[in-house]
Amino acid sequence: MTTLSDRGADDALATGGRVPFFPPDLFHEDRDTLLRLLYEIGTGADQKFILGDHTRRLEDALRERLGAADVVACSSGTSALHLILTALGIGPGDEVVVPALGCAPLAAAVLHTGAVPVFGDVDPRTLTLDPADAETRVTPRTKALMPAHMFSVMADMPRFVTLAAAAGLLLVEDSAVAQGAELDGVPAGLWGDAGLYSFVQVKSFGMPGEGGAVVTRDEDTGRRIRMLRNHGQDGVRRGLHHVVGVNSRFDEIQAAFQLHRLPGLTARLERRAAIAAHYTEHLAGLPGLDTPPPGTEGRCHYVYTLLADDRDALRDHLSAEGVDTHVYYPKTLPDQAAFAPVTAGRPGPGWPRARDAARRQLSLPVHHRLTDAQVEHVTDAVRAHVLRTRR
Ligand SMILES: *Cc1c(COP(=O)(O)O)cnc(C)c1O
Repeated sequence: MTTLSDRGADDALATGGRVPFFPPDLFHEDRDTLLRLLYEIGTGADQKFILGDHTRRLEDALRERLGAADVVACSSGTSALHLILTALGIGPGDEVVVPALGCAPLAAAVLHTGAVPVFGDVDPRTLTLDPADAETRVTPRTKALMPAHMFSVMADMPRFVTLAAAAGLLLVEDSAVAQGAELDGVPAGLWGDAGLYSFVQVKSFGMPGEGGAVVTRDEDTGRRIRMLRNHGQDGVRRGLHHVVGVNSRFDEIQAAFQLHRLPGLTARLERRAAIAAHYTEHLAGLPGLDTPPPGTEGRCHYVYTLLADDRDALRDHLSAEGVDTHVYYPKTLPDQAAFAPVTAGRPGPGWPRARDAARRQLSLPVHHRLTDAQVEHVTDAVRAHVLRTRR
């Protein structure tokens, strides 16, 4: 494992001896820069706090890094999903196929446009929407497919591209957590009609606040998203509203801070990848435990998620060993009270694999601030539990 962390045992003690799931010191290295930007922009002569030069420069930097036609910064990943669906003309009467296991905005963003989310089951290895299952959920009302990269492995985008083309459907890629991931040389976010990234603090390019970005290879989609994010105005002349938009503008201080942190992103992602590889190397093949499939293609190391038959006992053991873990989606989306009414009266094959994954999943800390000693402690603690309970 290559060491990126400059921290020693003293820093680990600062976390009370526990291995934290989210780093408590995510922005410490950049604290002086953050304070300087707050002062400079907060007291700047032009008093420009939203959608100014810093936002534009962040969009340009991300666009160049990706090779996208456009990148549009907006107020959150959730808002980005809503902007995309609206810009693509999805609305009442339409259906969008989304994964049954995932975050609430996958279903809510569709419902907010007036369309209906139709849940598809997941692949048991990647825990992302299974293209073969998604195909069986397509009806004459289906307008778009919306796979999401939820855990460590990207959804099977080549097959979704083929499926969308064959069925004449739009393809929206929820790549909120997959910034920096690539599959077949194509960055996450650029596989479909549009994708997005979330900058909320816990995501791979997180920041101290709310924000996100839409990414697209289509200039016209980018132009429509720009209008929608600022009340339907065209950005040239204020006060002219061409479409019914929303307020999803981006903050200048955050944009300047993200520009400052962008050059370090690759190294932070590499550190996460090295930690994930270490876990897989030492945990794969243990009885009663499934690790993410090894490899580097289409990998994003936003989280490192195991499937454990005795998930709750493993979680308790790790907690007793000072290791904080997280269960991201304890229920599938169709099993949530908010979305259960959506599926009522729609007989179908159900979501057995999503439900199994909801019951068995457990995510280990994988953030770049972990020391090598902490990573080894996590690995040892998981192994000790499995070997003890299997004797
Ligand atoms: C975090 C997340 C979102 C929403 O992003 P926010 O910035 O928190 O609104 C959407 N989709 C996925 C897969 C996410 O993980």
